[in-house]
Amino acid sequence: MANKDAKFVFGVDLDGVCANFIEGLRPIAAEWLGVAVDTLPTEVTYGFPEWHLERIAKDDPNEPAYEKLHRFAITQKQLFERLEPIAGAAVALRRLSFVHDVRVRIITHRLFIPHFHQTAIVQTVQWLEKHGIPYYDLCFMESKGAVGANLYIDDTPKNIEALSEKHNVIIFSNSTNRDIQGRRANNWNEVEQIVLERQQEWKAQGGEGARSSGT
Ligand SMILES: [Mg+2]
Repeated sequence: MANKDAKFVFGVDLDGVCANFIEGLRPIAAEWLGVAVDTLPTEVTYGFPEWHLERIAKDDPNEPAYEKLHRFAITQKQLFERLEPIAGAAVALRRLSFVHDVRVRIITHRLFIPHFHQTAIVQTVQWLEKHGIPYYDLCFMESKGAVGANLYIDDTPKNIEALSEKHNVIIFSNSTNRDIQGRRANNWNEVEQIVLERQQEWKAQGGEGARSSGT
């Protein structure tokens, strides 16, 4: 039997979907490397190999070159608090939440490097508040499918492929995911349309609550 109180749950990734991570990290990477910012391409793939971070760090499997930059960017440059939002993301999430009764569930893997989790979480919450992004749940998770959502959005190929096995996923287009097949949005107008379409389908099917993978 349908649960009339159930809400359509939208599982939303932050970096590369709501926050412009590449543009935010780029000037910090330029400073870190001691190069002009325009020497670092904006068309990058996952892990930024195009920026050649290894030129100032030995290939240490315990702390890869990227992790050193990431730690510097968060702890010294407040990256998660200073990122620019991706155009249209905040207002689309407000409209989905306040007008269309979508339950926004932020799901991010920002804690993948140890020892500065408090800083990363505080910056994340301050950023969400500052940009007026509504959310009901805030999950710091690697296994995004484990928390459940009726529809997800992500930009990282590894996450998209893992979620696609059991869930509906919108691919938010950027240079890191050009080769991935699936339902794609190029901007937040398109995201909003897809969410509303899927919410209508979900309602037509009786509006079951979101399920975790494996249940
Ligand atoms: Mg992402």
